[in-house]
Amino acid sequence: MVSLIAQYGVVGRAKDRDLLSIMTYNPRDYTTDKYQKVDDKPYGGGPGMIMKYHPLKAAIDSAKKDFDNKCPILLMSPQGERFNQKIAREFASLPEIIIVSGRYEGIDQRIIDSEVSREISLGDYVVSGGEIPAMMIVDAVTRLLPDVLGDDDSSTDESFENDLLEYPQYTRPEMVDGYSVPKVLLSGDHKAIKKWRTQQSLTRTSEKRPDMLNKSIKDQEKIINKNKQRYKD
Ligand code: SAH
Repeated sequence: MVSLIAQYGVVGRAKDRDLLSIMTYNPRDYTTDKYQKVDDKPYGGGPGMIMKYHPLKAAIDSAKKDFDNKCPILLMSPQGERFNQKIAREFASLPEIIIVSGRYEGIDQRIIDSEVSREISLGDYVVSGGEIPAMMIVDAVTRLLPDVLGDDDSSTDESFENDLLEYPQYTRPEMVDGYSVPKVLLSGDHKAIKKWRTQQSLTRTSEKRPDMLNKSIKDQEKIINKNKQRYKD
């Protein structure tokens, strides 16, 4: 399932150009019993099944052997830190990461205690496996790797960079079903275009995600206060 992501689009092209490599490890391949059992009933009772310690540990060990550096081991979990663009940038700066995906009702806590350095959540909802969340992380991080996106600016201009949403975009034709392209974009006046885009970004963010704007205003206040302090000193 996870290896599929490397066959399409931005991630696929990055892999073809050796800007990224993805390896997958299936805990079932590391079982030692005839039935290749990776799950068992929870101690103490309760619904569902839990991923067993040993197959998962052996899969993680095998991944660790394939890496030169001591890299962080992430666990996909609804209980983790909420994934965002800032964390994506942080991961993009690392040479390697190992991502552990759970299934069933989750995984034996002792794997988390002994192996996992950070738990990451995609949001406040529960999906049935960590693979799709892991694929989302791979996708978001790949876009930020050097040389992956054609235009160097395309990942710095995007939503969430600078704590703002992206401005509206248009492409040809100039008129569709009575809707035209904002005149300023056809003006060739780069300064005016930049100003319009910034205004649009601010308006959109305040309409769609006022929480983000509050945060960036707060950040700006912090910077201003810090500078005030510095000049005072
Ligand atoms: N019983 C667990 C949820 C298990 S869901 C609990 O209540 O915490 C099965 C697996 O799907 C998890 O181990 C995790 O790897 C993945 N998963 C589910 N929701 C997720 C989310 N919001 N973000 C990241 N991974 C998630």
